[in-house]
Amino acid sequence: MKEYTLIPLPISKISIDKSMMTYRRNMGERFEMPCFAWYIKGADQTILVDTGIEADFANSMLSPEYPVRFIPVQSFEDALASQGLTIEGIDYVIQTHGAYDHIGNTKRCCNATSFMQEDEWRCLMAPHPLLKEIYRPELMSGWNRLKLVKGDVPNLFPGIDLIFAPGHGPGVQAVGVNTKKGKAVISGFCCIQDNFSPHEEVKPYYPVTPSGIHTNPIQAFESMVKVAGIADILIPQHEPSLLEVNSIP
Ligand SMILES: [Zn+2]
Repeated sequence: MKEYTLIPLPISKISIDKSMMTYRRNMGERFEMPCFAWYIKGADQTILVDTGIEADFANSMLSPEYPVRFIPVQSFEDALASQGLTIEGIDYVIQTHGAYDHIGNTKRCCNATSFMQEDEWRCLMAPHPLLKEIYRPELMSGWNRLKLVKGDVPNLFPGIDLIFAPGHGPGVQAVGVNTKKGKAVISGFCCIQDNFSPHEEVKPYYPVTPSGIHTNPIQAFESMVKVAGIADILIPQHEPSLLEVNSIP
């Protein structure tokens, strides 16, 4: 079976209230977390998972009162150039979900085909008012280089699986990637390591904490258990310590 490495490409950081990440926990705690595009290195074609969003662009979409701010790390071009890649050279983008911090550069990938779950696309194109701050249809509307998928898709490419993991959004997908150290799984839903470490006060009741942003917290919980069960290497998609990591494994 083919083996790959995963390269995290940080594009920006997000400053938020931590409770937006940890359901009913850490309220009033200011928190910074990175926002990545991921390069699956070792494939015959150039495959990214998500495209991140540049800070200035993201901030330009937010009202001054909105309590979220993006902080620049590097441009999408520079992030790709660090791996010898160009925007024009991207063949595929696997979209974990439709939140704006994951699709901000996708329309710029002019030669790429992107994969998204059907339920997620529907939500992105006509978001419920409750989701309108994070689901921005203009970031992908008119994008016709799109392949919609439904449910688990084993071996989308050899050794690369789409793992249906709804709850944070209606059609979130995690991405499983074969590596020499087993199956690395990019969570798909927005989370940090804390989400998988039981919080002291709820430890007797449940082992994982869903994101504070969700369309169904119980489904989000079940998806976390599913993803953690599959992964040899679990990658919580916004984990701050990943800023120190150049390659997985
Ligand atoms: Zn996110």
